[in-house]
Amino acid sequence: MKGKNRIKNTMIFTVGLFAITFLQSCNSNTVSNKKVTNESLKTEKITPIVIGTWNFPKAIEAASQVLKNGGSALDAVEQGCRAEEANAENQTVGIGGLPDRDGNVTLDACVMNEKGDYGAVVGVQNIKHVVSLARKVMEDTPHALLSGRGAEQFAESIGFQQEDLLTESSKKAWEEWKIKSEYKPIINIENHDTIGMLAMDVEGNISGACTTSGLAYKMAGRIGDSPVVGAGLFVDNEVGAAVATGLGEEVLKTVGSFLIVELMRQGKSPQEACEEAIKRIVNKPNSNYKDFQVCYIAINKKGEVGSYAIHEWFSYNIYTNGESKNIKSDFYLKP
Ligand code: ASP
Repeated sequence: MKGKNRIKNTMIFTVGLFAITFLQSCNSNTVSNKKVTNESLKTEKITPIVIGTWNFPKAIEAASQVLKNGGSALDAVEQGCRAEEANAENQTVGIGGLPDRDGNVTLDACVMNEKGDYGAVVGVQNIKHVVSLARKVMEDTPHALLSGRGAEQFAESIGFQQEDLLTESSKKAWEEWKIKSEYKPIINIENHDTIGMLAMDVEGNISGACTTSGLAYKMAGRIGDSPVVGAGLFVDNEVGAAVATGLGEEVLKTVGSFLIVELMRQGKSPQEACEEAIKRIVNKPNSNYKDFQVCYIAINKKGEVGSYAIHEWFSYNIYTNGESKNIKSDFYLKP
């Protein structure tokens, strides 16, 4: 009996040891992204990469120029967003953005750098480069988020140009909308185009930025997900970053970008993490997801990229290896 017990005990010990070793190896797999730190990247040659929501060629061009010249990821995403903020034909960002229901163009933006610093401005009028203002909040104030008049005063105090952001064509669109004044919180899936950008530079550092005029004909004072840390944008330089576009209320309620980064930290690829974040929205009880669009893009520390949307026709731009492309995203609601 004693001999049998010894064999049994040895077997239990061996099986136990095997199980512990197996669990440890699983665990190290699940956090493998976290292991790709700047230290380990120093020995590898980093291929700079930038991605941006929708198809804004000027933005990807401006951001890629910064990276080609060896600039930082933060400079790249800022310059990319600025290109669209200055584009009066884009009615969802910067000058020419569609106004709220009272006819005021109000802009929201945020940035996050590789140190995990964050700066944002919300409800800003008469200043088109709100992405740069958000960066100034992050770098030159003790605060993270400034709103409305206070943000405008800060902008004026540091010499930001003031101008009327309501262009003739956006004013005309608003006047036509006013005839019926039909505000539908359930948005048309073409009615939004926030630009969110994520970049990794030659040092392997990741930063992100997001800028928008928010939903057209929104209630005065409405703020969406885009300037809110963890919702519209989140960056963790040890893991990766994510940015959102679409119906901000739904992204806010699921803290989508933070969720994606945390899922990547647990071992999911950017693609898997974006899909899971969209499923959180569509699987909510009584979700009317068929009536609105939400889209995510994400990048991890290895430079892998993912994207996913509820509806078809979301796309993103990518620059890497000297080439820019527009890629149609996969989506949940298949015909
Ligand atoms: N996410 C933005 C917002 O809700 C809208 C957009 O993506 O255009 O303000």
